[in-house]
Amino acid sequence: MIHFVGAGSGAPDLITLRGAGFLREADVIIYAGSLVNPELLQMAKENCEIHNSAKMTLEEVISVMKEAEAKGFSTVRLHTGDPCFYGAIREQMDFLDSLGIPYDYTPGVSSLCGAASALNLEYTLPDVSQTVIVTRMAGRTPVPEKESIESLAAHGATMVLFLSTGMLKELSEKLIEGGCRPDTPAAIVYKATWPDEEKYICTVSDLAGTAEKHHITKTALIIVGDVVTHSRYDRSKLYDPGFTTEYRMGTKEK
Ligand code: SAH
Repeated sequence: MIHFVGAGSGAPDLITLRGAGFLREADVIIYAGSLVNPELLQMAKENCEIHNSAKMTLEEVISVMKEAEAKGFSTVRLHTGDPCFYGAIREQMDFLDSLGIPYDYTPGVSSLCGAASALNLEYTLPDVSQTVIVTRMAGRTPVPEKESIESLAAHGATMVLFLSTGMLKELSEKLIEGGCRPDTPAAIVYKATWPDEEKYICTVSDLAGTAEKHHITKTALIIVGDVVTHSRYDRSKLYDPGFTTEYRMGTKEK
């Protein structure tokens, strides 16, 4: 059995109880060494076989899984954050399906959430934005043309950008071209929830300058939108004394 497990965004105690249980029982662990906190490997059994997927191809990963399965072993495939974002799990699952190897998937705390916690942010503030656009700049991996930064920026929704820290000048230009005000609040969160986390609030126009000043070139998320400074927003209906919900009778209808 292969267990795909989200390791969480950095702090080792952010892994779920279920994920930790699988790690402790694993005979084989294949972890994404570029971003998974190696402290998590201390949970492994003494005789556990450990592989760093940063140095492996998809075929090599599958071959380790196949061998482990033939021996009746339990394998954990440990991905950074939650593997549903840029985790390349689909291709592994399709390979496993073709080999008839069973697997399951335990979610983790994505850096999407880790970065919000670092800044005490709510991405979906009433009357500011009720939508989060999760995307990236095209790099060596292309992005479909219909998802250009300019077209997404036109929504004025909260945006969270992965894998884009090395292209911030271009990102700012595209955001502004798409209709973002140059002074739209933005944030750079480096290594969210790791001990060496860093976070900076800036504006869309000075994203590149802020990153350069603090020598941030990778392992960061970029957050764009008025939710970053939350200077103005409406209170929620859910906790409004005058609002009746399924669980609570409102005291005064406004
Ligand atoms: N599945 C992961 C994302 C993998 S893609 C998740 O859910 O978080 C790798 C990119 O994620 C990095 O380039 C960076 O943009 C972002 N990232 C991963 N961990 C991060 C962290 N702790 N802090 C900030 N950004 C992070």
